[in-house]
Amino acid sequence: MKCDILTLFPDIVNAYLKESILKRAQEGKLLEVKIYNLRDFAAGRHKVLDDYPFGGGPGMVIKPEPLFKAIEHIKKDGLPRRVILLSPQGKTFTQSMAEEFSREKQRVVFICGRYEGIDERVRLRLVNEEVSIGDYVLTGGELGALVIIDSAVRLIPGALGDERSADEESFSWGLLDYPQYTRPREFQGMRVPDVLISGNHKEIWLWRRKEALRKTIKMRPDLIKKIKLADIDKKLISEIEGEE
Ligand code: SAM
Repeated sequence: MKCDILTLFPDIVNAYLKESILKRAQEGKLLEVKIYNLRDFAAGRHKVLDDYPFGGGPGMVIKPEPLFKAIEHIKKDGLPRRVILLSPQGKTFTQSMAEEFSREKQRVVFICGRYEGIDERVRLRLVNEEVSIGDYVLTGGELGALVIIDSAVRLIPGALGDERSADEESFSWGLLDYPQYTRPREFQGMRVPDVLISGNHKEIWLWRRKEALRKTIKMRPDLIKKIKLADIDKKLISEIEGEE
């Protein structure tokens, strides 16, 4: 995945990218990120980036000129790019969008807004898509860009230590993840379920599937309605209903 991030706060983005899996992904050339400071594209001695909204109202708006200049600069190499604006008004980000980003061949430009947002003309002329990371308002788009990059990179083959990690977690089956346990076998009177220590892979698979169904029914019943239940799932669900 190759990205350009346009932000007023490069240090926020950099701090996250220089640790753990994202750091290793960059070292392994699975991820390339260029961070651009929007202030470098602001005009004048004071590098003013924002101004009052026409028509009045609270807060400030990021001016169009620095964003147009920055995108023009970024696109100078002539490579095709997908320009994403992080915005609470965008399409809500999901795991299937993360999968799509993980396979993206074009460079992706992330525009991180601040203040009351950006001048509408940037949206009209430069932005290909708007993406929201949820129905709430953040102070800036940086967390959104990092959420997209983080969730996409871990789906790129080779990014995680064990490829199965991404195959067997929440949303990959259309369900939430099953409960996980590690040592010790007993902690403060709570025992690890015997089946997980049995070595019986079929029983372990069935237990995990059932517990994933149980969690999803409890926490996210909307997800259950979206998946095609196999006969075994229907059997496990009727067992769960009998138990609860
Ligand atoms: N006035 C804007 C509105 O109501 O749509 C909100 C501006 S918000 C305070 C500042 C910036 O944070 C936005 O331009 C956007 O880049 C980012 N942002 C805020 N909430 C977001 C969300 N849910 N998803 C992605 N980006 C978000």
